[in-house]
Amino acid sequence: TKEQLLHPYIIIPEIIKMIEKKATVSGIKIVKDISEDVPGFLGDPSQFQQVMLNLLNNAMDAIEERHGSSGGRLSIAVCKENENKIEIKITDNGIGISPENIEKIFSPFFTTKPVGKGTGLGLSVCYGIIESFGGVMEVKSEQNTGTTFVICLPVKHY
Ligand code: ADP
Ligand code: MG
Repeated sequence: TKEQLLHPYIIIPEIIKMIEKKATVSGIKIVKDISEDVPGFLGDPSQFQQVMLNLLNNAMDAIEERHGSSGGRLSIAVCKENENKIEIKITDNGIGISPENIEKIFSPFFTTKPVGKGTGLGLSVCYGIIESFGGVMEVKSEQNTGTTFVICLPVKHY
């Protein structure tokens, strides 16, 4: 893997661009809140892209299940938590996750999607990638309200 310094303010909007058309067609409003002074972190850019696209696509699926093709909202917020940590939050207003399922979502092959639509590998891969960056990933969810995935990553110091 090719580890490099990644700047949230630059890389995250580039990734969001890749799903913008799909979001628009699905009636999903994307809200971005990324301050320019959020410090960088170390990671492989294509792996980071994979994590973000998995989370954003899951969010759009969850939104479509609850709202159809209008009324969706997807927000991506990045902030400096403290001197050593940044936090990336991806929040959707989709169907949410039941307390029973939330225990299982990071397990490989766990999916609630129809055969052919989901492999159940996305989140387990995301979890492993974030761990390899020295970070952690958490989830909070309420059924019929929405879900937030939180990624905490160590800041690159010089
Ligand atoms: P897949 O998308 O192939 O099902 P994932 O590992 O990406 O596999 O996700 C596993 C499961 O976690 C999904 O099937 C879904 O039940 C749940 N899930 C993931 N993200 C969300 C979300 N944003 N809102 C609601 N449920 C979610
Ligand atoms: Mg997925």
